[in-house]
Amino acid sequence: KLGNETAKAELGRAAWKLLHTTMARFPDKPSTEESAALKSYIHLFQRLYPCGECSQHFRKIIDKYPPQVSSRSTAAAWACHVHNEVNKSLHKELFDCANIGDFYDCGCADDEATEPK
Ligand code: FAD
Repeated sequence: KLGNETAKAELGRAAWKLLHTTMARFPDKPSTEESAALKSYIHLFQRLYPCGECSQHFRKIIDKYPPQVSSRSTAAAWACHVHNEVNKSLHKELFDCANIGDFYDCGCADDEATEPK
């Protein structure tokens, strides 16, 4: 059966945006519980990702590169890396992960006090 490439690409852009923005807001010094929550979130994101082919493919990537959840910067670098692994397999340009820190903005201003816990 023919898939719908436009819908798949739109879903992908939305999903990556949410994932990278989540990493950009993850605490610099997470508690054990916060790190465990992010780890489960990533595994469930993979498992429940609505494109089945993508989900299976991403499973192999995260088996090879397990989620890094010890800080904001390691989590953001990990997500950038696994997104680049998907980019590679789709023959897309790679993103320079050195720039990841400034790229994803939640639009939530300087409300560190209400940073998600
Ligand atoms: P996207 O890859 O969607 O990226 C959106 C924007 O994010 C880019 O324009 C760029 O500004 C930025 N960006 C690019 N690379 C990075 C990076 N490494 N780190 C941070 N930001 C970056 N599609 C398939 O056809 N087959 C698959 O198997 C498949 N698997 C997927 C698995 C997952 C978990 C997800 C979320 C998506 C998957 N997709 C898959 C969709 C695919 O990755 C793209 O989202 C889709 O093809 C649209 O691509 P795009 O060129 O618009 O940019």
